[in-house]
Amino acid sequence: MTAKALARTFALAVWRLVQHDEEGVPAAIFEMECMTCHERSGPDETGKRPPIWALEHAGMAPGHRVFKLHTETYWRAEPSASNPLAEAPA
Ligand SMILES: [Zn+2]
Repeated sequence: MTAKALARTFALAVWRLVQHDEEGVPAAIFEMECMTCHERSGPDETGKRPPIWALEHAGMAPGHRVFKLHTETYWRAEPSASNPLAEAPA
């Protein structure tokens, strides 16, 4: 097999993207950022704290009214059953 054929084999391999849901990995992490001063709420896995922080921040600095919600989620690429890199079933 030539290097070109090997590269083609990898290009044709099927992968799927799944949420990385192993124990200890949060489903998501949320953090609010003030778009005026760029202060941040701090990361929160529940999503409840960032909006409260934004309201408190606006209350303390009334000119700061625009926020960006940063959301991180974790994903893992897995080879499909037809992919040569797939693990054999146990
Ligand atoms: Zn601010």
